Order: sequence, then C-alpha cells, then structure tokens
Amino acid sequence: MIAGTIRKISGPVVLSDGMTGSRMYDVVRVGSERLMGEIIRLEGQNATVQVYEDTSGLIVGDPVESTEGPLLVELGPGLLSSIYDGVQRPLPGIAADSGDFIERGTEASALDRSRLWDFTPTVSVGDEVVAGGAVGTGPESESITHRVMVPPGLRGKVTEIAPAGQYDVGKVVAVLDDELEVKMSQWWPVREGRPYARKLDPTTPFITGMRILDTFFPIALGGNAIIPGGFGTGKTVTEQSLAKWADVDIIIYVGCGERGNEMTEVLAEFPELEDPRTGAPLMHRTVLVANTSNMPVAAREASIYTGVTLAEFYRDMGYNVAMMSDSTSRWGEALREVSGRLEEMPGEEGYPAYLATRLAQFYERSGRVETLGEDGRIGSVTMVGAVSPPGGDFSEPMTQNSLRVTGAFWALDTSLAHRRHFPAISWTKSYTLYMGQVRDWFQEHVSPDWQDYRDQAMELLQKEVELQEIVQLVGPDALPESEKAILEVTRMLREDFLQQFAFDEVDAFCPPEKAYWILKAVLTFHEATSQALQRGVTLRQVLELPMKDEIAVLKTTPHEEALEMLPDFCDRISSEIAGIEVL
Ligand code: ADP
Repeated sequence: MIAGTIRKISGPVVLSDGMTGSRMYDVVRVGSERLMGEIIRLEGQNATVQVYEDTSGLIVGDPVESTEGPLLVELGPGLLSSIYDGVQRPLPGIAADSGDFIERGTEASALDRSRLWDFTPTVSVGDEVVAGGAVGTGPESESITHRVMVPPGLRGKVTEIAPAGQYDVGKVVAVLDDELEVKMSQWWPVREGRPYARKLDPTTPFITGMRILDTFFPIALGGNAIIPGGFGTGKTVTEQSLAKWADVDIIIYVGCGERGNEMTEVLAEFPELEDPRTGAPLMHRTVLVANTSNMPVAAREASIYTGVTLAEFYRDMGYNVAMMSDSTSRWGEALREVSGRLEEMPGEEGYPAYLATRLAQFYERSGRVETLGEDGRIGSVTMVGAVSPPGGDFSEPMTQNSLRVTGAFWALDTSLAHRRHFPAISWTKSYTLYMGQVRDWFQEHVSPDWQDYRDQAMELLQKEVELQEIVQLVGPDALPESEKAILEVTRMLREDFLQQFAFDEVDAFCPPEKAYWILKAVLTFHEATSQALQRGVTLRQVLELPMKDEIAVLKTTPHEEALEMLPDFCDRISSEIAGIEVL
C-alpha cells in the first residue's frame, strides 16, 4: 500500500510525502476523514494532490493513502435520472433544504445497488463476443434501452450467460472463456476517452428547434459549439431549451454554478421539466452533474470529464447524446485556482499555459462514431459549452481558447438582451464551420433552395447594419423607398423569425421546415415589394395590406396548421402585392 503524510496544505491542494510508486491522476484518500483527491504532480516521493472536498480541518502530519488507480466512474443502468457531483457521488435529497451538501469523505455508490433491472440475453453459450458488443439488453426508461456491453479490452467465447431475469448492477451476467466476467455495470477512468471503431463525418445536423441556430448557424450531430455571453444574456435558458428540445436521445447536463443559488435553481427546476416528446419527466433521459459554488473547486475541474464519460457510454450504445456545460468558465477558474496553488508559471490572465490543450482535449471527445462491437452502431456526442466572459468581453482567454477548438460560435449579445430580443444570439458575430457538412441534409430534407433563402436573409441583415448607420447620420427620410423596404423586411426577419420565445408553448420549438417556410414568406414579401416599388407603388401601400401582421403570427401558429397554409400563403403574398394599383 502506498501511504504518506501531509507536509503542506494550500486551499484545495495538499502536498504529501511517502508516495513513491504512485502514478499521475491516481486517486488518494486524505486525512482521517478520507477526503477524496487526485494526484496532479509527482516529484520524487512527493505527490501534490487536488482534493475534491473541503480541506478545512486537515493538518500537517495527517495520513494520505493511495487507491493506486485513476478516478473512475461507474457505468450501468440507473445513470439516467441521477444527479451527481463532479466525482459521481449521488446528490441526495436535492429538493430538501439541506440542499446540496454531501458529507465529507462519503463513499456513496453511484448506482443504486439494490435496484433490479430487466435483462434479456442477446447471446448464447458458445458465441464469440468482442468489446462493445452487447450480451443483453433491458429497458432503462420509457425511451431508452440499455445495452449491457462487453467492456473495452475484453473479448472471448461466452461460457456462461444469465437467463432472462431481473438483476442488480453488480450481477455477473456473462462469463467469457471461463474467466472474464461481464457485469451489469462497468468502470471507466474519466480522463480517458472511451474507444470506438472509427470517427465518421458529421453530416447530420443537430436539430435544436431554434430558428437562428438551425437556419443560420447549424452544427452537426457529433459537433461542438460554444455559447459565450455576459451575465443575463441567456446562456442558461439556451442550454436548457437545447436540453429539452434538441433532437437527441440522451442529455448530460454539467452545471457549474456561478452564484450559490443558481445551481440550486437548476437542481430544483430540472426534475420538473417534461420531455416534450414523451410527456415523461425529462430526467428519464438525462444525467445531471452539478457543482454548486460552495463545492470545492477541484471537483468542478473533474466534473466535465465525469460528464463526457457518461456521454460516451451512451454513445457506445448507439445513442445520440448532447452534453451541455454551463458554464465552462467556472471550470477554467478551477483550473486557474489549482494552478495558482501549485505556483505554476501563469499564462494569460492567470490561467495556466495548458488551458488551450485541456480545452482541446475535452472538446475532442465530441464526435459521431461507429462504435466498437461487431454490429458497429452509430452514436454521437455533441457538446455545447456556455462561456461566461467577465463583462461580456469576448477577447478574454476562456472565450478565445474555446473558440479555437470548437466548430461554432453562438455569441450572445448584451445589447440584444437589453432590448429583450431573445434568443440574444448575434447574427453578425456568430459563425459555424459545419455549414458545408450539413447543407446537403437540409437541401434534401427541407428544401433544395434552403441555402438560397438562408443566404438572402443573411445578406439583408448585413445590409441592415449599413443602412442603420446611415439612418443614424441623416435620418430615415433620406433613404430611398427600396432601402426603407429593406429595413421593413429586416425588422420582420428580426421580430418574426429570429426572435423566439423559449417559454411559449408553440414557439419554444420550431421544426426546420417551418423555419424555412417563415423565412420564405418574409423573403417572398421582400421580392414582391421590390417589384411593386419599381412599378411605382409606394411602400405605404404595401404595408397597408394585412400580410405583415399575418407573417408576424406564423411563429406562434401550431406547426401543422402553419405548414399546411404556408405554401398558399406565400403565393397570396406575391399575387396581392402584385395586384396593388399605382396611385
Ligand atoms: P445567463 O445564464 O446568461 O446569465 P439566463 O439564461 O439566466 O442568462 O437568462 C436571463 C433572462 O433572459 C431569463 O431569465 C429570461 O427572462 C431571458 N431569456 C433568455 N433567453 C430567453 C429566450 N430564448 N426566451 C425568452 N426569454 C429569454
């Protein structure tokens, strides 16, 4: 056994001697309360340990004991609906007033050991199985079938298989080659990506139901995006709408609270959310990993790895998983604090020089893959990370380093939020690198001219920025009618298309087809208006028609009804405007 003694304590970081034989990232137990920690630096016989729990009360001379293994998470049925802290300890009684405190040194089991799960074998004695292949399945929730998989690294001939029945997570359900046990649950080190057969091109879009994202800045399943935004610009509302509406099977939500009560709110609200598709609680396909601000910083550092490992596990079963992190800035701060305690050479704004590498390693774990196993399924992990730059200043290191390693930038704009334009996603600052990959899908599944309309709308919105500058200088009357018409159309684009109310029953989710048709209606209006103006019709005459108001209610019109009337409506826009007589 590797055991040492505390020599120095600095906040969440402890220096221990006597640790010869340890490896980096081995988990240790610190002090008589056996607080959990992880080795983050080794020098000779000395180990520096980041402790995942409050270190107050520890004294120099206290014992440190190594578990001689890395930080593992347990993966098996029952993860869904669970709420964990950053090192996968279940957060009990979250609704209770005691709130989010876990007793120090707790070694709670991540999965309920007494609960029984239905298991139906899918292999027979004599079958050859490989890592990733399933030996059996069972329902984990209404919509999710759990596959009991052969863990990475194992393969062999099935020599024993449990009959159909109900088993707990510790049950050995299969034995390979008379010796290798496959249990209902398995363990995996969080800092290592779970293996897969191969990465696939991300060509299927991650449908969010948010018009601005799906139409202007789409990402692919298996892609990654960041949502940077100052305080109150809508990061949390956006992440939660995505969790609720995005077209994926499983949600992993990692929350790092900014202020004490913020995470508590998420913890109280999330279990109340209903899955709009099944009507069941959203938690039935969600795992929450929560750090409140009163939890030690080092646990925050681990939480995103715990989260992504859970995501990869469901990916390996062939599911599309979305992992939301809100906010990654709190994770960055944890990294900065620990680095400061280690007296490392600080990089930009006190963040460690390896911030960029760590971010890259994390986001690299997203992707759409063919899984291990003979029947190679396709699964994906899509990552959306919120970033909270101080003062909303995007030039700070977390935003800058994150945007370098992710494929889309959904920038939240403080001035839009102030004007109550929600979602406050800026169409001038945001971008996506996935357009080339997902365009074909939209052209095939929505409409062949999907991109034309999207590009036209973007151009008009850019033109609006220029026109508004002129208006500020010389006033709106100086503009010719055709340009006034552009301002009218871009106002419609902003209010009737881009603005989307997250709390409206209909508008909370907009299918891409409906988004396309609303856009088409607005642009048809623009086209018809331009032609009418050329004939000598005045803009006022056009605006007197009821069309403008009819377009405004499209977004809150139930989807099917809207989709049914929209093609005729677009024709009517053209013909009625064409029918206006010149005065
Ligand atoms: P942040 O997490 O960036 O501090 P929040 O997500 O808490 O900000 O959003 C702040 C407020 O903005 C919300 O309480 C809500 O009133 C409003 N808001 C944000 N996004 C939307 C949206 N899509 N629809 C309606 N209101 C929104």
